[in-house]
Amino acid sequence: MTVGLPRRLALVVEPQPGESFASWVDRMAVRNGCPLWMMAEALGLDVRASGEVRSLAYGVVVTPETCRAIWAATGVSAEVVRGMHLEVFDGSAVELAGVRVGDKDSVRLAEGREWVQFFGSRACPRCLAASGGAWPVWWKLGWAMVCPEHRMLLVDLCPKCRVSLRRGPAGQPARLSRSRMPAPLQCGALLSGAICDQPIPQISTRAVSGELADQQQLVLEVAMRRQPALFAGQVVSAGQWFAALKATAMLVRLGVPEVLPLLDATADGLGALAAEAAAGRRRNRAGPAGRFGMAPRTALVAAGLLAVALKVAAAEGESALVARLMPLAGAARIRWKERRPDPLTRMDLPAVFTAALEAVLGGQARRL
Ligand SMILES: [Zn+2]
Ligand SMILES: [Zn+2]
Repeated sequence: MTVGLPRRLALVVEPQPGESFASWVDRMAVRNGCPLWMMAEALGLDVRASGEVRSLAYGVVVTPETCRAIWAATGVSAEVVRGMHLEVFDGSAVELAGVRVGDKDSVRLAEGREWVQFFGSRACPRCLAASGGAWPVWWKLGWAMVCPEHRMLLVDLCPKCRVSLRRGPAGQPARLSRSRMPAPLQCGALLSGAICDQPIPQISTRAVSGELADQQQLVLEVAMRRQPALFAGQVVSAGQWFAALKATAMLVRLGVPEVLPLLDATADGLGALAAEAAAGRRRNRAGPAGRFGMAPRTALVAAGLLAVALKVAAAEGESALVARLMPLAGAARIRWKERRPDPLTRMDLPAVFTAALEAVLGGQARRL
């Protein structure tokens, strides 16, 4: 079926470098004085067939047809539009193979698996104030923890309504509103009919060390493939690098609390890991794999896990890697008895990591 291209809009807001698609459409709606749903339709998104963000894979992946429509409506190129979607991290920090527009189950499946918030975001209040409400797409990553520019911990929750930023109530994605204009600088969560008016630039957060800021920058460089991914002295693919970070994080989580005294992370990061484990024991419906494999729920948990994982990644070679994995695996084995957790075997890990893990586990198995 051939569908006519949308009309060119008179008022177009330029996307800011690195901005997320949802953020740009919000700002377009504000500029045009219309609700989000209407703006999405004006950009050629298939909102009539389904206005649901999951079905639209809103901000996750984009079809060539939609890119053409957006270009017709705004003059913004397909390359820039793709760069605003999470698919910019596909094959590095996230794996979006199988995610299709119009197939909300494919979106839900990846949403539960990948370390990223499809429909929510962390935020740096200072960046938002400076940009006038442009939300970078990388704030959605599970590994997003601090703002490298302002050296502040990213904000997870609105302090007023306790809803994760940019999420709807009960952890569901916020809908494309048919009546209300977006407010890029406000929390905007809809709760029992009322809209949370918390200004995000006024949310206080804490300063972090330069080391954390550098770690965050390294993650972003690898995620954007601007820097080679080095793991234990070897160049690996960006996807394998992130898989190894994730696998290390799983080992760490399995070993909490015994592993905590062995870790080189900030006291806050360790506290967050302990709190996460305690909360996980209370509501562990997803089973162990779900718990250990889930995305870090807060920026502090991400910081705690990343500090350890990057230390492992920075090992100079395989024997150094074995030495670094040994205490983690030792603590983890207290909880995982005979076989390693399934998520570890399903991941595309660097060969050097798999070999080191074998060495660690093999050695321990002989001793046990
Ligand atoms: Zn910032
Ligand atoms: Zn709020």
